Amino acid sequence: MADKRDYYEVMGVPKNATEDEIKKAYRKLAKKYHPDLNPGDKKAEEKFKELNEAYEVLSDKDKKARYDQFGHAGVDPNFGGGAGGGSPFTGDIDLGDIFNSFFGGFGGGARSVNPNAPRRGGDTETVVNISFEEAAKGCKKTVSYDRVEACPDCGGTGAAKGTSAKTCPNCGGTGQVRVSQRTPFGVVQTARTCDRCGGVGKVIDTPCRTCGGTGRVRRKKTVEINIPAGVDNEQVLNVGGQGNSGINGGPAGDLHVYVNVRPHPLFERRGNDVWFEMPITFTQAALGAEVVVPTIDGRVSYAVREGTQPGDVFKLKGK
Ligand SMILES: [Zn+2]
Ligand SMILES: [Zn+2]
Repeated sequence: MADKRDYYEVMGVPKNATEDEIKKAYRKLAKKYHPDLNPGDKKAEEKFKELNEAYEVLSDKDKKARYDQFGHAGVDPNFGGGAGGGSPFTGDIDLGDIFNSFFGGFGGGARSVNPNAPRRGGDTETVVNISFEEAAKGCKKTVSYDRVEACPDCGGTGAAKGTSAKTCPNCGGTGQVRVSQRTPFGVVQTARTCDRCGGVGKVIDTPCRTCGGTGRVRRKKTVEINIPAGVDNEQVLNVGGQGNSGINGGPAGDLHVYVNVRPHPLFERRGNDVWFEMPITFTQAALGAEVVVPTIDGRVSYAVREGTQPGDVFKLKGK
């Protein structure tokens, strides 16, 4: 740990460098040290590794903030402790949130919606990080995220084990109570949602401890998703039925997956083409030369014609 270099030093940028400056510095150095451009050079390979490690931290807002505060210890997973980051949801279950998702869709005022009707669960979202090559060729990725599901301990009823919800004594299970109001025009009868059961028609005497009586809990879920070839950075993939589970037998919501494509040290995407800036020597340009060009399918040999000028563009069809 002690001989680890400072990430800002590795990237040759000041501590107050902008996101853009960090990205630019990375591209510049990556081109210098990329193994494809320095075949067999162990030192360059080490430098490239060090650079990638630095970039991974400094290009990530959260990691950068932890690094700025705690140094290497703040971002090294081996260090453990409080600085380890991790999911913000792994702590205590946020009952308020579950409550909201449970009763989501109700306005603040009169509840005209039947609370026992099936309702679709809310959508959830997560982020997937993939490499440039994975984006180009498509891939399968396992993503983990939090979603709200029926509580496994009470089966979603909200009643503690061995007990069950009872018919509401206040409304007799109808969820509605009649109120008589004396008005200048006589006595008017109106129906109102039962206060005691909130219109559900049932009450729980002993709430399930796991879910606090809501019948719903936040759980970590892991799914494998197919990422199609050619997916672009910041594209959102919709995975049907993997969001929060439905209520009263309603369908589950969807999972939105935000795709984050890591920039490639050598390649740049423009539309469906891959661009690469090839450094060659003056002699190679003047006399023409056989050069090795990296592509997303591996290295290929390419004959640079004599008299090539800086900025000339060559096309490798299908690559
Ligand atoms: Zn429960
Ligand atoms: Zn009631």
